[in-house]
Amino acid sequence: METNWVSSAGDFVDRFGAKVAGRVDREHGVPTASGTAALHLALRALGIGPGDEVLVNTLTFVAPANAVRYLDAHPVFVDAEPEYYQMDPDALRAFLEDDCERRDGDLVNAETGRPVRAVLPVHVLGHPCRIDEIADLAREHGLAVVEDACESLGAEFRGEPVGSHGDVAAFSFNGNKIVTAGGGGVLATDDEALAERARHLSTQAKADPVGYVHDEIGYNYRLTNLQAAVGCAQMNQLDDHVEAKRAVGDRYAKALDPVDGIEPMPEAPWARSTRWMYTIRVDPDAYGETRAQLQARLREQGIQVRPLWQPMHESPAHEALGGPWPTAGRLREECLSLPCSVGLDEDDQARVLAALRREDTSTDESDPPGGSL
Ligand SMILES: *Cc1c(COP(=O)(O)O)cnc(C)c1O
Repeated sequence: METNWVSSAGDFVDRFGAKVAGRVDREHGVPTASGTAALHLALRALGIGPGDEVLVNTLTFVAPANAVRYLDAHPVFVDAEPEYYQMDPDALRAFLEDDCERRDGDLVNAETGRPVRAVLPVHVLGHPCRIDEIADLAREHGLAVVEDACESLGAEFRGEPVGSHGDVAAFSFNGNKIVTAGGGGVLATDDEALAERARHLSTQAKADPVGYVHDEIGYNYRLTNLQAAVGCAQMNQLDDHVEAKRAVGDRYAKALDPVDGIEPMPEAPWARSTRWMYTIRVDPDAYGETRAQLQARLREQGIQVRPLWQPMHESPAHEALGGPWPTAGRLREECLSLPCSVGLDEDDQARVLAALRREDTSTDESDPPGGSL
């Protein structure tokens, strides 16, 4: 505020881009107005365009599928694996090997006849996907890799930060992420030309600093200096926030482990999850309630919980390309995200745990929660 550089030019914008890139072992960081904008720019800078196909998780927040559609390209949806809920490399391999063929050097979806150009794996819930297998498969088939690391900043795959394996990665600094700039994103890459092109497109493709010459259709996707300043300060707290999230996660895991029918949030031996969104899996037979019933009961008790996303192949906004998707449907049915903010105190967490264990902690005369079971 004091420098008067409140808008999209200013020192903090560059500092923020460099800070995020440095944190995820990438050479270049391009700040953007949102994580979705970073995904859109990444795909366009890679040359994805009308009629192309991009492989995306079906079990994800909607943004990556939308980013593909902004370019009149088509998302083809890949099922989740049951252990960690991430893009299933085996399902990806099956699609590439069984459903695609080579035509004039292009990999083509045999059913649609359209070229397949890229894989866009999403690291969901703060846990890394099996990015090594996914990136190897993509490279074997000549496809670009765009990592959607929007909700998993701070997570590690075999000791390396998420977002450091693909050709380009997108991060989000929306208010619900592990650190925030109020809103915003960063595109991170080692490819200088790609970074420059993304920066150019994010600035209305401005080709001359003062002459109002624009050499193609660009966007106003810049981050403001005010937001970048908040983002820089928040990046200094990233490690603390990861620790706080993991502490919440450890307390849940320990307390829920003995509860029949509830599977605590998994963490792969090769992963360091941030436990960004602490998510349990409910086995209705063993637990005595379905996920939907548990969700309704917790809401009644004033505890805010969320199901996982509607799988993209079921979304009215998207076409059901790809499949089959047996696992994503089951996870949607059985998974529930619990309160897990960085500031969640132990008393509040104990209240959530008591409700999950159906312990009566009420002091009034009303029926105990779940008493009808
Ligand atoms: C939050 C999120 C985004 C989008 O980020 P915004 O900054 O809100 O546009 C993209 N992908 C995933 C997986 C996300 O969770």
